[in-house]
Amino acid sequence: MKTVTFAVSLLLLTSVTLVKAQETTDQEKIRSTFHSISSNEILEYVEELSAPQYKGRLSGSPEYLEAAAWCAGKFREWGIQPANQGSYFQYFQNAYSEVPSLGELVYSNGNKRQILQFPEDYLPGSNSASGTVEANLVYVGYGITAPELGYDDYKNVDVKGKIIVLEPGIPYTKNDTTMMKWTPYAEHRYKFRNAVKHGAIGMVYPNLIANPNTVNLDGFVYAHVSPGLAEQIFSDAGKDYAETKKQLQNGEIPSFAFGPGQKIKISAETRYFPDAQSCNVVGWIEGSDPVLKEEVIIIGGHLDGQGKMGDVVFPSALDNGSGVADILGAAKALATSEIKPKRSVLFILIGGEECGLYGSKFYAENPLFPISKTRLMINLDMVGNGTGFYLTGGKTYTSLFRHFETANNEWIHRKMQTNEVRKNYGRPRSDASIFENAGIPTFGLWTSGSVHPVYYHHPMDKTNVLTPEIMEDAAKLLYLGVMGVANDETL
Ligand SMILES: [Zn+2]
Repeated sequence: MKTVTFAVSLLLLTSVTLVKAQETTDQEKIRSTFHSISSNEILEYVEELSAPQYKGRLSGSPEYLEAAAWCAGKFREWGIQPANQGSYFQYFQNAYSEVPSLGELVYSNGNKRQILQFPEDYLPGSNSASGTVEANLVYVGYGITAPELGYDDYKNVDVKGKIIVLEPGIPYTKNDTTMMKWTPYAEHRYKFRNAVKHGAIGMVYPNLIANPNTVNLDGFVYAHVSPGLAEQIFSDAGKDYAETKKQLQNGEIPSFAFGPGQKIKISAETRYFPDAQSCNVVGWIEGSDPVLKEEVIIIGGHLDGQGKMGDVVFPSALDNGSGVADILGAAKALATSEIKPKRSVLFILIGGEECGLYGSKFYAENPLFPISKTRLMINLDMVGNGTGFYLTGGKTYTSLFRHFETANNEWIHRKMQTNEVRKNYGRPRSDASIFENAGIPTFGLWTSGSVHPVYYHHPMDKTNVLTPEIMEDAAKLLYLGVMGVANDETL
């Protein structure tokens, strides 16, 4: 009896040692792939995507589709399989406008005439109509008419034949169920249509960013202007811009007509493609475990940018060439790793984000893997300028988060913040919120502690404002974190 016990213990001891040794070599193999992830390669990816040939990757444009094909080529090169019935592409409707000219913007006050400069004073509207309008100005605050909510920014002003000055946002900021009544009014598309319905012929928008998340309406010409210009227009009318905005935020309706001598002339040239299609790029690695492979982890980030205006390209390097480059870095590592993920991994380079989250909405309605089998989605947006990470949702999904936390603590050593997922009753602002709302546990990753200025939706968003080291670490964090989740049998 004793001998038997002894033999059994010896056997147990040997197998424990064997398992331990196996684990050690597995860990070494993972480490070796981890160390193969290089900032040089990741920088090459983002340089490619930011190159002039892709013209700022405007979703729906032929150049966006070329960038998508380039990414699919990388997937193919690394043995990542097409995820949509043999195709790397998942197509959807994506109307867009080309902006072949910078147009012109002139502000005049009586005899004083000011020709405004691109991009310091103005940016053309991404979906402006073509043509020239010149008219007096009317401030319409948020530009909302909501009778059921007892609210109308247009009630005291006549905008027929006028150019409006419009603000982003809604007169409600509390994140509760009431917010949902206001959400449809937060959309630019609604605000544009409401302006046209009231007879406005043009608009200046005091928010100096390129923004394709709008709509091209016949005869409605618009441009974005700097807050500085807005202040000047207000002070020429004897008004205080900051004070007026405060009134607006307090729910008062400060709409008014500017002085009779104050005029703006906007010339715009665009070409509208209402029937265009765009796509997500989808590739996957089949899990190595016969049971766990039915479950999937999604790594995603938007591939599209803000396009081109006249001859000026918006390289969209940080937003979001960086996130896509990090994903490609991690994808290559996961695909070539000697240790295979047990769960399947799906990569989705999302289209149409800048136009209104088209690609993520399309995926949520047409998922390639059942939502119920999707264990985690991790979305990267602007992950390339900084010294630390913000990974949202870690306090809600603790058993998933610990894999990323351990990877960071043991191997990457960056400051990493997280938070709890809070239900958002307002307008969804990121692809991450679309996946979260679809019922998928979702992390959003971005970089914190900017090293360079952030040129948001601006032609200066070039690769020279990226920090390649943090991009390497983002790809490493993805590789180890996703590997951890994919192989965790206790989940
Ligand atoms: Zn973005």
